Amino acid sequence: MDFILATNNMKKLAEMQRILSPLGINVVTAKMLGAEIPEVEENGETFEENARTKAYSACRSMNMPAIADDSGICVDYLGGAPGVYSARFSGGHGNDEANNDLLLEKLNGVPEEKRTAYYVCAICCVFPNGEEITVRGECHGHIGFERDGNGGFGYDPLFIINGRSFGRYTAEEKDEISHRGKALRLLAKELEKRI
Ligand code: IMP
Repeated sequence: MDFILATNNMKKLAEMQRILSPLGINVVTAKMLGAEIPEVEENGETFEENARTKAYSACRSMNMPAIADDSGICVDYLGGAPGVYSARFSGGHGNDEANNDLLLEKLNGVPEEKRTAYYVCAICCVFPNGEEITVRGECHGHIGFERDGNGGFGYDPLFIINGRSFGRYTAEEKDEISHRGKALRLLAKELEKRI
């Protein structure tokens, strides 16, 4: 069964394919089908809301089952910020360096025990008949005092879990405990029941 993934992020596509293809699910992007899906504004207040909006839009425009995700990091000391604004924390969209600088600045002087944070990934899958599955994965750790390692992306060099920054994990090690890995495995379990 083919599912459309509402992103052109090839890393997300590869990760989804890796976990879902053993179930006979073929994840493709609109681009791979020579189509285009409308850009959706991510203005929801929750990760689930944003994932749902993107999945419904892709499902409607392609008339096929669609999967979309939304993710980010929530820092307890900052009341859960940047949360759904993670990609644009410092203003522009997806400037990882500026986002990490701003996070370090906001936590300047904050001791280790108060630097707890967690990644969240919500994934929504919608079928043309309106059936919907929404899952959520979380990964809890804390924010370091400086960047460490150059693996991963986004906030990974600052996110410490089990005494090591995500910047020092291999992709496979990260998959095993990450918010996205957890959410994808939950989605796979739910899909397995239905297809
Ligand atoms: P999305 O593509 O709209 O889900 O944006 C997610 C944003 O949250 C990214 O730009 C990153 O800043 C951050 N983020 C989400 N997941 C991760 C992760 O696994 N590592 C590092 N940063 C992440």
